[in-house]
Amino acid sequence: MTAHGTSETQTKVVVIGGGYSGTLAANRLRRRPGLHITLVNPRPRFVERIRLHQFVAGTHEATADYDTLLGDGIELVVDTATRIDTADRRIELASGTTLDYDYVIYAVGSTTALPTSVPGAAEFGYSVAELESAQQLRSALADLHPAAPVTVVGGGLTGVETAAELAEQGRRVTLIGGGQLVPTFSGPGRRSVVKALRRLGVTLMAADVVTEVRRDAVVLADGAVRPSAVTIWATGFGVPALAAASGLRTDDMGRLLTDETLTSVDDERIVAAGDCASPSGAPLRMCCATASQIGPQAADTVLSRIGGDIPARFDYAYAGACISLGRRAGIVQLARKDDAAVNVYLGGRMGARLKEAVCKGTLWSLRRAARKPEFAIAFKGGPRPTEPVPLPRAAV
Ligand SMILES: Cc1cc2nc3c(=O)[nH]c(=O)nc-3n(C[C@H](O)[C@H](O)[C@H](O)COP(=O)(O)OP(=O)(O)OC[C@H]3O[C@@H](n4cnc5c(N)ncnc54)[C@H](O)[C@@H]3O)c2cc1C
Repeated sequence: MTAHGTSETQTKVVVIGGGYSGTLAANRLRRRPGLHITLVNPRPRFVERIRLHQFVAGTHEATADYDTLLGDGIELVVDTATRIDTADRRIELASGTTLDYDYVIYAVGSTTALPTSVPGAAEFGYSVAELESAQQLRSALADLHPAAPVTVVGGGLTGVETAAELAEQGRRVTLIGGGQLVPTFSGPGRRSVVKALRRLGVTLMAADVVTEVRRDAVVLADGAVRPSAVTIWATGFGVPALAAASGLRTDDMGRLLTDETLTSVDDERIVAAGDCASPSGAPLRMCCATASQIGPQAADTVLSRIGGDIPARFDYAYAGACISLGRRAGIVQLARKDDAAVNVYLGGRMGARLKEAVCKGTLWSLRRAARKPEFAIAFKGGPRPTEPVPLPRAAV
C-alpha cells in the first residue's frame, strides 16, 4: 500500500477539479473496476456554478453534498493542486502533501477575471464567477441599502442573468453591456431578453463601455461618471494557472492545449476536460453543456490508454443556450449543433421552467453517473467548427 492507501499495482487516476466535468469524469472512470480514483477539490461541497447569480441574490444556496454525486470508491481529497510534477508523476497540493498518479484528468474549470487593464476593476469590482467571490458579493449587498445603485458590467449570459436576478429581488440595477447584449442569441431572442430586463426595471446601457471602476462609481468611455455602490464585473472568465505553472503548454488564456482526444500535447498521461481545455487550440464554449459532454470523454480517453486502445477523437454538439431572467422568466435560445443560434426561442414562464429543469437536470445527471458509471449524455456533432490541425506532440 502507498501513503494514500493504494495498492502498488493499482492504476491511480487523479481528477483535479470537482466541478461538472471532473465529477462526471471521476464517475465514468468507475467503468473499469480496480482503479484508484481520487478527486481533488478545494471545497468539501460541490458548487453549482450555474446558480451562483442566484446565490448572490439569495434565491439558491448553489452547493450540493458530494455524497450523492460521487460513486462508491472515489476518494475526495479537499485540497488545491499547486503543481503537477510530470517528471515524477506527482501532484503537489497546497497543504504540502502530494499525490502520485498514473493519469491525471485536468478539470480545474474557469475563474473570476477582474482585468488589471481597467483601473479599479480588480480593487473595487465584484464577481459571481466563483463561490468565494460570490460570497464576498453577497455580503457586500447585504450591507447595502436596497435602493443603492448596483452596476453589472458585461452584457453576456452571466451579466444578464445576474442583473435580472438582482433586479427581481428589488435592487436598482444598471447593466452596461460594452456592445450588443447577448450577442450569441438570435435577433428575436435578444429582443426578448431586452424586454424582460426592462420589465424587471433594469436600466440598460447596452453599448456603453466602462473604463474605470471607483469605490462608489463607474466611469464610462465618454467620461461620464455614474454612481455605483457595488459594481459586478461579468465580462468573461479566466482560467487557473495550474497547467502553465506545471510547465504544460496552454493557449493564450491559460487553457491546457490538447489534441482531439483531449490529451495534453506535452504529456499523454494528462487529459483535459471542461472550461480549462483547449483542444487543438480551438476551445469550445465555456459552459455546462461542454463540460458535461467532455468530462466523460476525457475519462474514456484515460480508460482507452489504460486498456492499451487508441483513444477516440472527442465529439460534441449543442442544442442551444438557456438563461434565467429572475425566477419568473427565462429564455431558451435554440441553436444548431455547431452552437449557431437559430431564430427560435422559448421565453417567459415556459423559458423559466425549462431553465430550472436544465439546472436540476445537471445535478440529476451527476447523481445518475454516480450510480451508473456507463451513463453519459453524448450528442453526435459532426465536424468541429474549424477543423484544426492537431498540434505537434513534444517529447516528454
Ligand atoms: C453565474 C454563472 C452562471 C452560469 N450559468 C450557466 C448556464 O446557465 N449554462 C451553462 O452551460 N453554463 C453556465 N455557466 C458556466 C458554467 O458554470 C461553467 O462553464 C462550468 O461550471 C464549467 O464546468 P467545469 O467542470 O469545467 O468547471 P467548474 O464547474 O468551474 O469546476 C472546476 C472545479 O475545479 C476546482 N479547481 C480549480 N483549481 C483547482 C486546483 N488547482 N486544484 C483542485 N481543484 C481546483 C474549482 O474550485 C471547481 O470546483 C455559468 C457560470 C456562472 C459563474
